[in-house]
Amino acid sequence: MRNKHATQLIYELSQNGRKAVALPQVDVPERPVEELIPERFLAKKTLGLPQVAEPEIVRHYANLSTLNMSVDTHFYPLGSCTMKYNPKRNERLASLRGIVDVHPYQSERSLQGLLQIFFELQEMLGEISGLDAVSLQPAAGAHGELTALMVAAAYFRDLGEVRTTVLTPDSAHGTNPASARMCGFDTVTVKSTPAGFVDMEDLKSKLDDSVAVFMITNPNTLGLFERNVAEIADQVHARGGLIYLDGANMNAILGVTRPGDFGADMMHFNPHKTFSGPHGGGGPGAGPIAVTSKLGAFLPVPRVRREEAEGECSYCLDWDQPQSIGRVRSFFGNSGVLVRAYCYLRTHGPDGLREVSENAVLNANYLLSRVKHFLPVPQGDRCMHEFVASAAQCKNERGVSAMDLVKRLLDYGFHAPTVYFPLTVKEAVMIEPTETESKEMLDQFAETLFRVLEEPDDLLHEAPHTTQISRPDEVTAARKPMLRWNPSTEE
Ligand SMILES: *Cc1c(COP(=O)(O)O)cnc(C)c1O
Repeated sequence: MRNKHATQLIYELSQNGRKAVALPQVDVPERPVEELIPERFLAKKTLGLPQVAEPEIVRHYANLSTLNMSVDTHFYPLGSCTMKYNPKRNERLASLRGIVDVHPYQSERSLQGLLQIFFELQEMLGEISGLDAVSLQPAAGAHGELTALMVAAAYFRDLGEVRTTVLTPDSAHGTNPASARMCGFDTVTVKSTPAGFVDMEDLKSKLDDSVAVFMITNPNTLGLFERNVAEIADQVHARGGLIYLDGANMNAILGVTRPGDFGADMMHFNPHKTFSGPHGGGGPGAGPIAVTSKLGAFLPVPRVRREEAEGECSYCLDWDQPQSIGRVRSFFGNSGVLVRAYCYLRTHGPDGLREVSENAVLNANYLLSRVKHFLPVPQGDRCMHEFVASAAQCKNERGVSAMDLVKRLLDYGFHAPTVYFPLTVKEAVMIEPTETESKEMLDQFAETLFRVLEEPDDLLHEAPHTTQISRPDEVTAARKPMLRWNPSTEE
């Protein structure tokens, strides 16, 4: 049965005069608000906020929270996103009063604990990446890409070199070329081979002195380790370019190999992916970047540093970086996510992190070995932490698309895998189980996918059938503007 509270807006529950708070009596002389707040700051109309009692608010939001799928309620094999379980321990530690009750304008002296956490996190990320300098400021992976490209642009400006192009493989995440364009570069796409790797001939033909950066994802978005990565890096470096590593797939290689060791000059981390931060409601995440020493001077300010004086160590914010690109985020970045990442790293330690990756790869290969028998996996002998199946045959033979299949999985209590990415695989279904799932869960998922493939076409075209909202019409909706904001009607 569909729940009335969950489908109504909170504004529809509003009743004039109803309240959820009872403020204490004023114990100072009351003064009219006009005396306290200058006239020009006063709103001329009421805000029209919903008027509801506490039980209604609680039920409204508690019911809303059950409509969605989450890592806490369902298996969430959303490829590329690393939707691993978020340990409750990290939530608890990140909500300690010394962490949540600080104010960003407090003095450095009174923020020593938090600064120490940031400093040590920088050190750990430097070690994991094999790179020299780290900034925690960027607010998401994509923001890390943009920040690192700004660093690269500053570096070439400093050298007096004019480099206008960023190369991205055709399997790249859309944020890579988007970040490059935002940063003012032209983008050129490098083809992949049928086996799913960077096409070396195509790369060579596009590599010239105008190339500033080659952005590579490794393991790539097909879940394959780019075997030629060291050679790619050599070629790009030989022409004076830089290698950017999109670190979204770090869950496959923690403690096994390091981007700095296979030639990366800069990279971002996605702590909300690799280090188990929540992705709830789209964020906030974080996107720390790591770079080689020659790029360190261009990182955003302030840098978090450790100082030693008279045998005492303390932490400070260093603004004295004349070559820095400046600030890219207010205050310290999304500090709550960074603290969770710190807890995750400290909990696992170096050996534990390696085990995380080994188990992520093991789980993905186990699921691959089951799924490929009924849903083809074009590059599917072995994978890293994820693999990309294809519903192309299913689509050609019976008109059932990747979208139809994954929407039906929702009816069985599985979050839909990523579809239609990467663009190099037709009817792509990208599956990433992560290390936190049990063998039983992986078996259940494989069996359910098998069962879905046996179901009648019409049932699949119209799935999902049991969720609160049916399938949005993405085809026609995409042609119409969803919302047209008209400034002239704004008061
Ligand atoms: C998630 C992802 C990004 C973007 O990261 P955000 O933190 O979502 O901004 C970039 N590249 C790849 C391959 C990704 O999976």
